[in-house]
Amino acid sequence: MSTPCTLFATLTLVCGLLMHTVTAQGQPTKDPALKRATRLLRSTILVDGHNDLPMTIRQFKDAPRDVIAYDLRQPTKGDTDIARLRAGGLSAQFWSVYIPGEGSGPYARQQLEQIDIARRVIERYPDVFMFARSVADVRAAKRAGKIASMLGMEGGYGLENSIGALRTYYDLGVRYMALTHNTHTDWADAAAPLQPRNNGLTPFGEEIVRDMALTHNTHTDWADAAAPLQPRNNGLTPFGEEIVREMNRLGMLIDLSHAAPSTMAHTLHISEAPVIFSHSSAKAVCNVPRNVPDDILLKLPKNGGVVMVTFVSSFINCEVGKVLQPAMAEIGLRARSAATPEEAAKIRAEGFAALKLPPTSIAMVADHIEHIRNIAGVDYIGIGGDFDGNDWWPEGLDDVSTYPKLFAELIRRGWSDQDLKKLTGENLLRAWARTEKVGERLRRERPPSTVVYVPPKS
Ligand SMILES: [Zn+2]
Repeated sequence: MSTPCTLFATLTLVCGLLMHTVTAQGQPTKDPALKRATRLLRSTILVDGHNDLPMTIRQFKDAPRDVIAYDLRQPTKGDTDIARLRAGGLSAQFWSVYIPGEGSGPYARQQLEQIDIARRVIERYPDVFMFARSVADVRAAKRAGKIASMLGMEGGYGLENSIGALRTYYDLGVRYMALTHNTHTDWADAAAPLQPRNNGLTPFGEEIVRDMALTHNTHTDWADAAAPLQPRNNGLTPFGEEIVREMNRLGMLIDLSHAAPSTMAHTLHISEAPVIFSHSSAKAVCNVPRNVPDDILLKLPKNGGVVMVTFVSSFINCEVGKVLQPAMAEIGLRARSAATPEEAAKIRAEGFAALKLPPTSIAMVADHIEHIRNIAGVDYIGIGGDFDGNDWWPEGLDDVSTYPKLFAELIRRGWSDQDLKKLTGENLLRAWARTEKVGERLRRERPPSTVVYVPPKS
């Protein structure tokens, strides 16, 4: 079910002959493009590649990690709740089970806890969510009027360099893994922040670091980030290649969001299955390390992969980052001098609330989508909003209820229903189905990898 049908029917009756469509906010609209977008989503699968609700619940101030207290049947302070998911017409969500790669862990424990939170959310609302482990599950959920719910790992830190752990995460339901978040792994490099690790940003803490769109860019131990971080691995190490091969064998999607271009190119060279970018936009439109360069976009038709365009303001509109980056550094320095954690939190909250950022429009997001279409082709684009993973959004595209407005913008630009269906979900489902097929073949051809990580000699 992709729209609140009962509400829709009621309002249609109330509106009588005008036959208005309801907007995400429940108001009737005469906008023909928005009406068409809303109608399209009823019969079309809309997949979003990345939503950080599990981390929002982990960090919920009133009751950390409490999926009951963070009641999705009520309006939440975050970007996501059930009413808004329904209004937005969402059919399928990769819930990010993000953990930070900064610090010293414990990574596997945090990873397991995040998977636990996501699975408990899915289980708590069985009338709304359906745990999905396959493309067939996603289509079944759509037929049942439920939101297919998949798990996606963000950064391979939780593996702790174990291929056995990778297989176990797959068994727990994880269907994509980003090779890195903002720090390198031992086997793949991440895209760099504008400032190196352990500078004045570190005192912001994990919560603030991950809110900083421009710092989603550090190497992992196994994939390199963009400059100015020094690359550690120049892409993938031999162990990183083995991780990619085993992900292919499992049929797990490889997510290259947050990876360095060297890691992107290296992975595209060796992966037998399509890759995804679960939440990235176009570097030629906004030149930040987290976006995808054109030379990588040009490789997508051969690979079959999909860039799921993110809405994060500082990745869409580079003018935002120019204001945000120094402002956050300044706020961070002030918070660092606070006498108590409470005072530091107050300084941060007030500083962020007072920030005046250049406006970002829905049209700017559409520009990224159209650039990727123009370079790679309409078969290699998807949607990956990153809701609940960032505080700054384009005007009008600021929570899970707002997807139809983006599609309305594309309709006004002349997009056909056929191309919109590819963008909203069919491209991703094609790439995932291909990954499943590759996995089936590889599992017949070779046994599980027994390769063990060996640290480099220093
Ligand atoms: Zn991210």
